[in-house]
Amino acid sequence: MQEIIEKLLVLQDRDRKISRVTQELAHIGPERDGLKQKAAATQHSLDAAKLRVKQIESERKQRDLEIEGKKAQIEKYLNQQLLTRKNEEYKALTHEIEMAKEVIFKIEDAEIVLMEQAEAAQKEVVLATAEAAAAKKLVDDQIGQLNQREENLKKELAELTSSRAQLASAVDDSTRTRYERLFKSKGENVVVSVEHSACGGCHMKLPTQVVTNCRAQGELVTCPNCGRILYFTRDMILTAAD
Ligand SMILES: [Zn+2]
Repeated sequence: MQEIIEKLLVLQDRDRKISRVTQELAHIGPERDGLKQKAAATQHSLDAAKLRVKQIESERKQRDLEIEGKKAQIEKYLNQQLLTRKNEEYKALTHEIEMAKEVIFKIEDAEIVLMEQAEAAQKEVVLATAEAAAAKKLVDDQIGQLNQREENLKKELAELTSSRAQLASAVDDSTRTRYERLFKSKGENVVVSVEHSACGGCHMKLPTQVVTNCRAQGELVTCPNCGRILYFTRDMILTAAD
């Protein structure tokens, strides 16, 4: 095989590895963000459960204050009853006291419901705490692995890039420029073989002259359709004759 083609194939292989590593590296950031969001979501649930407990507690305190208020009212009515001499007024106060007691009963019923809710909310906090801790541990582990992978990939990329520079310098400027332009525009398959007299990149049938030039292994030959660099090896002669 032509020496320049061999060099280009090695360079192409290196460039493929570089783009694979680069792509893998590009995925790590979003993957890490996704993991962080997962952990944040369980923490958010825990915060919400804690907030609910606090809300129920403050509601209970509010109810306690209401009961105290009603009890103070009853105290006041009882004192007024001691002072009054009017029967009507005494009766009216008795009625007020009954009403206040009624309200207290209702508040106490509501407090029982609140206590049950508080118990459930507390259980929810315990559960959410365990879930958040487990998620955090898992995510921390996974992020640790990702960081390690990222580090390895960066190292690999640095090595590939530096050896790529060496490989590239072995190719003359104009050929390299042509190759690099193709690699950018056509993707990772730009130095292609001639297969059954067709371009191995775009698969268009090649003019006989192009195939002949390619077989001569003289100047660099490109596909007249897609511009890819063509090469021909001895073991292709048979298939080309098809
Ligand atoms: Zn082509």
